[in-house]
Amino acid sequence: MTTTATAPLVAADLVTELRKEVRAFIQSWWSRKGFAPGLGMNATHSPEFSLELAQRGWVGMAIPTQYGGRGSTTVERFVVAEELLAAGAPVGAHWVAERQTAPTLLVFGTEAQRQLFLPRIAEGRCFFSIGLSEPDSGSDLASVRTTARRVDGGWLVNGTKIWTSGAHRNHFFVVLCRTRPLADDRHEGLSQLIVDLKAPGLRISPIKLLNGSHHFNEVAFTDVFVPDDMLLGEEGSGWTQITSELAHERSGPDRFMSTYPLLEQLLRDRATDVEPAYLNETVGRLTARYWMIRQLSLAVAHAIDRGGSTSVQAAIVKDLGTTFEQDVVASIQALLELDPDPTADSLFERQLAEATLISPSYTIRGGTTEVLRSVAAKALRSTHHVR
Ligand SMILES: Cc1cc2nc3c(=O)[nH]c(=O)nc-3n(C[C@H](O)[C@H](O)[C@H](O)COP(=O)(O)OP(=O)(O)OC[C@H]3O[C@@H](n4cnc5c(N)ncnc54)[C@H](O)[C@@H]3O)c2cc1C
Repeated sequence: MTTTATAPLVAADLVTELRKEVRAFIQSWWSRKGFAPGLGMNATHSPEFSLELAQRGWVGMAIPTQYGGRGSTTVERFVVAEELLAAGAPVGAHWVAERQTAPTLLVFGTEAQRQLFLPRIAEGRCFFSIGLSEPDSGSDLASVRTTARRVDGGWLVNGTKIWTSGAHRNHFFVVLCRTRPLADDRHEGLSQLIVDLKAPGLRISPIKLLNGSHHFNEVAFTDVFVPDDMLLGEEGSGWTQITSELAHERSGPDRFMSTYPLLEQLLRDRATDVEPAYLNETVGRLTARYWMIRQLSLAVAHAIDRGGSTSVQAAIVKDLGTTFEQDVVASIQALLELDPDPTADSLFERQLAEATLISPSYTIRGGTTEVLRSVAAKALRSTHHVR
C-alpha cells in the first residue's frame, strides 16, 4: 500500500484498541503489584514492570521485528508512552534505552551492535544511561574533555561525566568523547562509545537530590578500555550523531506529560475544594495548551516515521512542553493555595511537593530553554537569511 504525504500511517481504530489494551494492562499491574504514580520518566525504576511490558511488545516497539521488536510506527509508540505517563506507571528502568538508544543504534549502529543490543532492549532487559554532560560542559557540549585514545583493539577512555541519570542501576551508557585533538572546528573529532557501566576503571558516585533521593551520578573514567566494536557510528562523527539522537530525546510525550497525573488527580480528588469558575478557567487554559503541544509532538512522531529531519521541531516541543509541565504545578498550587508538604497524608499532596522540587529541572535536562530557543532561532535564520 502506498501512502500520500499527509495520510496517517496508523489507522485510528487500531490506535484506540492499542490504547485500551495498554490501559487494561496498567490497571491489572496496579491491582496485582500496586505502584505510587510517578512523574514522567522520573517514575519508579522497576525492571519487573519493564519485563512484563516488554512481553506484551510495548518496549522498543519501533524496533524492527528482525531485531526482536514489534516493527511498529513511532506514532504507535507515542500512544503507549502517553498511556504509561498519564498513569505515572513505573517506566524508569527502560525509558532511555527504548526512547533514544534503540533508534540511535538503528541508524548508526553496526549490524553486530544491533543484534547484540536491540533484542535485549525490546525484551526489557537492557537499560541505558546518557553520557553527554561533564563538569564544565553542559549546554556547550562541543567542549567535552573526556578523551578516548586509540590502543590495540580499542580505546582507553579518561575523563568525567556528570548528572548521569540512573548510571548506578543501568547496564550501559553512550558516551560522547574526543577521539582526536581539538581542531579549529570543535564539532569535529568527537565520537560516541558504548560503555559497560561495570567496566574496570569506572567509578560511579551518587549526587543526591535535596530530598536525599539518588537519581544522578558522577561517572569518572580512569583508563577504561572500550573495545573497537563498541564504537557507535563513525569515528569523528559524534556531533552529527547526537544531533539526531536529541530529536528523539526532546520530542516525545515525556516532555509535556511529567505533571499530567497531578492534573488528573486534582480533577478526581480535589475539584470540590475549589470555586468552580476558577477551577474551570485554570483547567481549561491548561488543557488547551496541552492539546496544542500534543499535536506538535505527534506531528514530530509522524515526521520521524516518514524519515524527516526533526531536530528543530523537537527543540520547540521540549521548550513548550517543559514550560507547560512547570506551569501545571504552579497553577495547581495557586488554585489550592497549598504549600508543598512532602510528609502530607494524601498522595496528591506528596506528589505536588515532589513536583515542586523536581519541576525546575524539566527546563534544564535534555537541553535548557535558552539553548533550545537558540537552536530554533539559528534554523530560522538559515532558512530565511535573516541577519
Ligand atoms: C534532571 C536532570 C537529568 C539529567 N540527566 C542527564 C543525563 O542522564 N546525562 C547527561 O549527560 N546529562 C544529564 N543532565 C544534564 C543536563 O543535560 C545539563 O544540566 C544541561 O545540558 C545544562 O548544562 P549545565 O548544567 O552545564 O548548565 P550550563 O550549560 O552551564 O548553563 C547554565 C545556564 O546558562 C545558560 N546558557 C548556557 N549557554 C548559553 C547560550 N549559549 N546562550 C544562552 N544561555 C546559555 C543555560 O541556559 C543555563 O540557564 C541532566 C540534568 C537534569 C537537571
